[in-house]
Amino acid sequence: MSDSQPREVRLKDYVPPTYLVDTVDLHFDLDDARTLVTAALKLRRNPDAATTDPVLTLFGRDLELLSLRLDGRELGEGDYRILGENLSIAGVPDTFSLQIETVIHPRENTSLEGLYTSSGNFCTQCEPEGFRKITWFPDRPDVLARYTVTLVAEYARYPVLLANGNLVEAGKLPDGRHFARWDDPFPKPSYLFALVAGDLVEIADRFTTASGREVALRLYVEARNRAKCEHAMASLKKAMAWDEQVYGLEYDLDIYMIVAVDDFNMGAMENKGLNVFNSKYVLARPETATDADYQGIEGVIGHEYFHNWTGNRVTCRDWFQLSLKEGLTVFRDQQFSADMGSAAVKRIEDVRILRNSQFPEDAGPMAHPVRPASYVEINNFYTATVYNKGAEVIRMYHTLLGPERFRQGLRLYLERHDGQAATTDDFLRAMAEAGGIDLTQFQRWYEQAGTPELQVESAYDAATRTFDLTVRQSCPATPGQPLKEPFHIPLAAGLLGPDGRDLPLRLEGETAPAVAGTRVLELRHATETFRFVDLKERPVPSLLRGFSAPVRLRGDWLQADLALRMAHDSDPFNRWEAGQQLACDLLLRQVTAIGDGREEAFDSSFVAAFRAALNDAESDPALLALALTLPTETYLGEQLEVIDPAAIHQARESLRRHLGEELRDDFFQGYRRCRDAGPYRPEPAAIGRRSLKNLCLAYLMSREDADSLSLCLEQFEAADNMTDVLAALGCLANSTDPRREKALPRFREQWADDPLVLDKWFLLQATSRRPEALDEVRRLMADSAFNIRNPNKVRALIGAFCQGNPARFHAADGEGYRFCADQVLAIDPFNPQVAARLLGALSRWRRYDGARQGLMRKELERILAAEGLSPDCYEIAAKSLA
Ligand code: ZN
Repeated sequence: MSDSQPREVRLKDYVPPTYLVDTVDLHFDLDDARTLVTAALKLRRNPDAATTDPVLTLFGRDLELLSLRLDGRELGEGDYRILGENLSIAGVPDTFSLQIETVIHPRENTSLEGLYTSSGNFCTQCEPEGFRKITWFPDRPDVLARYTVTLVAEYARYPVLLANGNLVEAGKLPDGRHFARWDDPFPKPSYLFALVAGDLVEIADRFTTASGREVALRLYVEARNRAKCEHAMASLKKAMAWDEQVYGLEYDLDIYMIVAVDDFNMGAMENKGLNVFNSKYVLARPETATDADYQGIEGVIGHEYFHNWTGNRVTCRDWFQLSLKEGLTVFRDQQFSADMGSAAVKRIEDVRILRNSQFPEDAGPMAHPVRPASYVEINNFYTATVYNKGAEVIRMYHTLLGPERFRQGLRLYLERHDGQAATTDDFLRAMAEAGGIDLTQFQRWYEQAGTPELQVESAYDAATRTFDLTVRQSCPATPGQPLKEPFHIPLAAGLLGPDGRDLPLRLEGETAPAVAGTRVLELRHATETFRFVDLKERPVPSLLRGFSAPVRLRGDWLQADLALRMAHDSDPFNRWEAGQQLACDLLLRQVTAIGDGREEAFDSSFVAAFRAALNDAESDPALLALALTLPTETYLGEQLEVIDPAAIHQARESLRRHLGEELRDDFFQGYRRCRDAGPYRPEPAAIGRRSLKNLCLAYLMSREDADSLSLCLEQFEAADNMTDVLAALGCLANSTDPRREKALPRFREQWADDPLVLDKWFLLQATSRRPEALDEVRRLMADSAFNIRNPNKVRALIGAFCQGNPARFHAADGEGYRFCADQVLAIDPFNPQVAARLLGALSRWRRYDGARQGLMRKELERILAAEGLSPDCYEIAAKSLA
């Protein structure tokens, strides 16, 4: 931004709205070039307003204002003022009506906020501030109103007309037009408004709630996708039943609708009664969707459904409270997925996401608290911190209170604030009351950014048979927060005996009999010591079981302790974690060696531990697959003072090849053991077997010998499901075998009409380990299936390269950085949200060596200097360089 710098919005400046809106009656005359919107609002003075000034302020963006009437009187130019996005009318009465006519241009709306078209159909995205692109309105989440909506459109092109709530009237109009009127009885903020109009087919089902109410379930998709809706519908019914069983929460309208669209900035949106989804999270059949897609659909359908209570019935007072609904709802969807499959597998996957995306964010220039204190562009705060760390914060309440009191706390929160716009403080208060505990210090999780670090020292005293665990906590400085106060941290702990079994736990001074298993220790101070008594010999501590807090843990444990825990820890998460730590230590030693110009031989005991795990016929294949997956390059980089992407890549690849070689027979056996007969089923046990089988294949393919190649090609040719086809194609995409050049085009040809499958094809090539990956990405941008206006395509090709291929993105010549900046600048003018996400790839430049720092910095400066840069990109670039 060369001229005016966008302004920062601060939590401490919050003031309640001066006017409230009771009802909104919207009328849309839908035309993709020029849509006429008439809004009739009934307003009244807010008794809790901060000021007595009779000034009404509305927000609007890219609107053509036709007319404005107050209590029926048309306002002239002198009666109101427009300054940027604000329209203010002075001297308004205590209660009044407002009628606003605006014209908007849905077809030209490339930002995918507000009302836009996707594949020719109309849809909306109003969270967080998209409603102001539809009409002038107090577009803030603490203004809740009742909406009625009338849609008028050409029947032939738009036979389906949908909005929030219940359909109250519909019919034909002259000139081939028709209309539908919808009424939503629940007051809602404008960000939950939605409409859809288009040529869609309807998939119908029903659900009977626990109290016996009938709910109509509807999925709307383009006709070509009709056969891909079964899983989404089944997931919805599971989610509805789960929320009743676990939290006693029922759905409240007579109809629940989900619409799938191809052009969508995020995953999905919880608009009241009318969810709009990225088609990626709806459409699936075995030949086109992978196991991960099936699980993603179940998770996101659940997530948006759970928002009906945590987000819609109780919403956010302001956008600083975003985690109030998002952290809580992510936690709920995590619980749901855990209950539908394996809780241990789900927990490990969630922690991997946290460590690979949230920890880096928390250690970079965009670090912010779960409840941010300020923002320039709120769209930049739909982050891993607000969502995933926010979910960890909710999980800590759950750990501290236990499931039953947590449930009571949630019910109390919902009862107390039903129909209101609430804050994270309100949530904490409800939890403290229901739990009967003091959560004053816990509040710091909302206020302090950064990932806390725990440093553990242990001491066993044979004479007194005591074992002391001393835990020191600290938290690194983050932008604007140089010093941190100690957090209230639940530390789930166990002690293992020499045979790997849990020992009875008793703390000094306790009289109750000791019980073997896990105990939650509560940390509150910078340093504290826990003394365990009655221990015949030195135990092996197993701490942070289940990853009980979003922290980094370091301790004085020995390799042998980790090996014991990897084999025996009763906590499956910590079993996995011990193996990851062993692998991490080994890889980081290799990275150092490579930095010094040599390579070390890998420790044979590590290979032996892998072999033992792989051949343990008792263990769950899904957990085994996770255990045998090496830490990601991103995670390894996080552990280093200065990230060396090339050395990390080399070290990890060489360990993969080493394991592939040493355990060749074991991987072949593992592969055959997990091969499934019978038809594809996306169920947990079968998914687990496939993940282990495909992991074996990937290790075998790290060597590219003839046997592995033919196994891979056979799987590619013969598999009846996308999971196996894609796993094989992924291996081929990394290989140098000439058959790669046949397989990739063939796949492209076969799926030419399926955009979601083509996204996978783009992604495989963008994340390929081949040195020429960037050239391929450039070439693929010219493929007729690529479309830079479609966010899924941008993510699959450009995003995947910049954020999922560290070795190539960080090429020493800086070409990756230049490419990234070029794309940011190309995308920003038509879709700032997508551009700003992509720009995140350059934000952590200070973590690299001097040469890379210089190259990344240069690109950030180039972006910051660009004419007409969006506030979205301005904020990321400016904060990165600050
Ligand atoms: Zn959400």
